[in-house]
Amino acid sequence: MTDRIHLEGLRVVSCHGVLEHEKVDPQPFIADITLEVDLTAAGLSDDLSRTVSYADIAQAAEAILAGPPVDLIETLVDRIATAALAYLAVEAVEVTLHKPHAPAGVTFQDPESGGPSVTIRRERDAAFVVALGANLGRRERTLVSALEAIRSDPAMRVLAVSDLYMTDPVGGPDQPDYLNAVVVGRTRLAPWTMLEKLHLIENWYGRTRDVRWGARTLDLDLIQYGTPGDPSEFASETSELTVPHPRAHERAFVLTPWLDADPQAHVRVGDRITPVADVLQELGTDGVRPGPEWLR
Ligand code: ADP
Ligand code: MG
Repeated sequence: MTDRIHLEGLRVVSCHGVLEHEKVDPQPFIADITLEVDLTAAGLSDDLSRTVSYADIAQAAEAILAGPPVDLIETLVDRIATAALAYLAVEAVEVTLHKPHAPAGVTFQDPESGGPSVTIRRERDAAFVVALGANLGRRERTLVSALEAIRSDPAMRVLAVSDLYMTDPVGGPDQPDYLNAVVVGRTRLAPWTMLEKLHLIENWYGRTRDVRWGARTLDLDLIQYGTPGDPSEFASETSELTVPHPRAHERAFVLTPWLDADPQAHVRVGDRITPVADVLQELGTDGVRPGPEWLR
């Protein structure tokens, strides 16, 4: 993703520094911030909620720079980057902080914006769990291709893939057996951007959305985003995006491959965070059988 929002030359006069006199004599600090954000949806919808408000980020950065004195500009850039990444739309952030009047015992040519500066770049790295299912067409071929599409996206890093399972259909009309699998990994994408990518991959493989819970060439569900109990954990209850997936903990065809891909996996059910192994033990694995080997 190459979309960027730049905030350049945010100037705050404050008392950061290692030396005693720096703690009482204010000096300027100048921040340049670059946010990497997928702006496709915002550009198409003209909707502020699909991007990040640069005013919010600028004010958060200003509050950090004007806040209690610290010794190092390294500390300040780290805090600014963390504040920016708290906005989920921000996939990555680069922060440069200039300290033009830093007491270095030398003369810098440009007293306003020269002198020492530090630059850091931080990228979101959120855990994800995606369930794959297919019960129409060349199921194995479709799942291999979907997995390949996920793997080849530089914004998603696949860490483990389950075996394939053959499963009885649950709910919906009478339909053929499913092949199911689960992929776990990490991503820089916002959860809604990730779901859009999954929908795109579904569409490539002929997925249509007509009968709810009906037969499908490919189903990709975002089961979990972030780590339960961790600040990265994400929850949403809109119809476009419900995460954690509200029925995952009731579905052996999701939990069995999930446990296979990540034996330590935990799932949130309401207020409780429970090992997937425990939920599955309680639920049983009726209707879930070992499937074929992954095609090579
Ligand atoms: P299901 O997966 O429940 O059988 P579909 O694949 O037909 O149903 O998806 C129906 C809708 O559910 C989609 O339009 C999608 O936007 C929405 N949805 C909401 N949350 C999620 C999620 N976590 N993963 C996948 N789709 C979701
Ligand atoms: Mg789905």
